[in-house]
Amino acid sequence: MLLLLAPLPDFLTGPLRERYTVHDYFHAEDKVKLISEVGASIRAIVMAGGTVLQPAMLDQLPALEIVSVNGVGYDGAPLDYLRGRGIRLTNTPDVLTDDVADIAVALVLMTSRRLTQANRLLHADRWNEGASTLTTKVGGKRAGIVGLGRIGKGIAQRLEAFGMTIGYTGRNAQPVPYAFHTSVTELAAWSDFLIVACPGGPGTKHLINADVLRALGANGTLINIARGSIVDEAALITALRDGVIKCAGLDVFENEPHVPAELRAMEHVTLLPHIGSATRETRGEMARLVLENLAAHFAGQQLVTPVI
Ligand code: NAP
Repeated sequence: MLLLLAPLPDFLTGPLRERYTVHDYFHAEDKVKLISEVGASIRAIVMAGGTVLQPAMLDQLPALEIVSVNGVGYDGAPLDYLRGRGIRLTNTPDVLTDDVADIAVALVLMTSRRLTQANRLLHADRWNEGASTLTTKVGGKRAGIVGLGRIGKGIAQRLEAFGMTIGYTGRNAQPVPYAFHTSVTELAAWSDFLIVACPGGPGTKHLINADVLRALGANGTLINIARGSIVDEAALITALRDGVIKCAGLDVFENEPHVPAELRAMEHVTLLPHIGSATRETRGEMARLVLENLAAHFAGQQLVTPVI
């Protein structure tokens, strides 16, 4: 009665299989056949933050009651559709905040201090080239955060400790000791590092476009740990190629797991395979929340971390 829509760790799928009848849609060779055989009995879906749920598929699951996202971002879930059918939605907020903020800081340091390039040079036994390259100090620089939520605040706290000045933008100003900028373009023009930490989905698609990158400028660095859809990847590639911005650090991409060849070929881009929350500790906590939400739902109790 439960459908798995993503490759998930054994410490989550193990307990799920002990408690429920689990059908693995992600690994099924014939997905159409699987849905035609078991669709009517499915009461729950477990998916990852990057999974996109299609209403046409959900139409074939008439008994569906709950969708549990193993991640905080739920931009792949059709909220209006789920609301219309009274289907509950849960995610895993807070427990991953520290790890994702850490990865944002890592990308700031990797890009500013050219750590990936230095590491590559030493692996190639080219000490002198690595040691003689001067890089950029982060202390005293400006970090502009797009989306000052749980993760954005974690990034701000960490970068303040590095001596950086913090600014932010969002739909609303907040009671925080950081300067609010009314638009992402204005924030980009102010920033040395523009750090994307807002949700994905239609409301933020290509929020970071060619104009924003032009405003960030030739000494500016773009960091994205949020969602690939927020950055116009084609515009980013052009901006990096033409020196419109200085460099970029990316944990997320528009069409994962595809990373454009142009980005892979660029020496001044640091690329990570969407590993923001990928520690044993945090993935364990995320799995716990998925299991607790499902258990609460089927026991008729309040959900632990409901979205809707
Ligand atoms: P959150 O607490 O909900 O924070 C999101 C922030 O974005 C809020 O402060 C919100 O402020 C702002 N925001 C919303 N719409 C915006 C817009 N159109 N323009 C600018 N800001 C906007 O979420 P979170 O827990 O920090 O997570 C943020 C995102 O990180 C998730 O949605 C997910 O996609 C991503 N993430 C990535 C990884 C990874 O592995 N790389 C892991 C976890 C999460 P306002 O309401 O004032 O606009």
